[in-house]
Amino acid sequence: MFNVQDIRADFPILSQKIYDKPLIYFDNAATTQKPRAVVEKIESGYYNVNANVHRGVHFLSQAATEAHEEARRTVQRFLHASSPNEIVFTRGTTEAINLVASSFVDEYMQAGDEVIISTMEHHSNIVPWQMQAARKGIAIRVIPIADNGELDLEAYKKLFSEKTRLVSVVHVSNVLGTVNPVREMVAYAHAQGVPVLVDGAQAVPHLAVDVQALDADFYTFSAHKIYGPTGMGVLYGKEEWLDRLPPYQGGGEMIETVTFEKTVFNELPYKFEAGTPDYIGSTALATALDYVSALGMDRIAAYEEELLRYATEKMQAIEGMRIFGEAAHKGSVISFLVGDIHHYDMGMLLDRLGIAVRTGHHCAQPLMQRFGIEGTVRASFSFYNTKEEIDTFIIGIERVRKMF
Ligand code: PLP
Repeated sequence: MFNVQDIRADFPILSQKIYDKPLIYFDNAATTQKPRAVVEKIESGYYNVNANVHRGVHFLSQAATEAHEEARRTVQRFLHASSPNEIVFTRGTTEAINLVASSFVDEYMQAGDEVIISTMEHHSNIVPWQMQAARKGIAIRVIPIADNGELDLEAYKKLFSEKTRLVSVVHVSNVLGTVNPVREMVAYAHAQGVPVLVDGAQAVPHLAVDVQALDADFYTFSAHKIYGPTGMGVLYGKEEWLDRLPPYQGGGEMIETVTFEKTVFNELPYKFEAGTPDYIGSTALATALDYVSALGMDRIAAYEEELLRYATEKMQAIEGMRIFGEAAHKGSVISFLVGDIHHYDMGMLLDRLGIAVRTGHHCAQPLMQRFGIEGTVRASFSFYNTKEEIDTFIIGIERVRKMF
């Protein structure tokens, strides 16, 4: 479909050896590796256009501002948002969800009002709501899941009440890989007059996302999971919502005028961007988005689906294999346990073979409780992975299995 060896040449870290074995990097759901273009963008940004944005009359400040705002437009086009005003730069998905939790609850929720989340949420879409529950007395309702890792949509519909103010749900599960039918879920919520936040941290890197087609009111993602820099992320919000929400943090950049008596807040999106933004990170994110766009999100999705299918078939043939998450529509993530081998032991021994997988609860402890387990081993694939790497991984799992 595309030349994976050529692609791999763009990612210098992938040619490393770990314990004298070629690195096999299957921890892409935690963070992705960076193509040369992204690293070079950061380097050249600091070398050539570094100056604080938005406040300068001088040449460099204007060049930095233009690059930063062009990056915002790149994100807008990538998500198919209708205006750059709808793109707020944050430190990541976590900060984006905290922003909405804080500002939305402040403005629109009272004690006893309800937010609907799901059993498969990452802690970053659970804890901010619990903090608001402690602060303001809001209630959290949780969509249950079936054993195969799909949301129970009938139960979802029954959770709505006259107190429901917001739905906040993950697009693709970082543990189960489940791709949730967010378009239908948004349509149902809207029919009840309820807006929806979608956590797209695991969706944006793997499938083409169109926020207008989804009709999501808020959508979040992290740059580092889509081949961009760490400490950078995006909150998309419909202009009508962002306009009405109060600011999240106060400081420079987010104001129009300040006197000791009264402050007038800046226009969108700056109202939500207090302090000096990561204007180098934003341009590096734009470079990452250009990189995946050139490969083609649809081609990436098709290739990764093929890797998922190949790995799943081979893994299912291993004695004692339990895969968590067998949804009909699934992203390229496989969480598993083999017999009673502890996930940590499996991860450590695979590491000695040069294979990087994640072990533990994956920041989704309530989901672990749902399955009655402490943790899993998780392999997550990117377009730079290969079937040959999966073959080595399968041999590795078999070796570990035989040791126990
Ligand atoms: N949501 C999901 C589904 C995730 O997988 C992650 C990260 O693993 C997050 C949110 C949090 O992202 P970040 O740590 O980049 O803010």
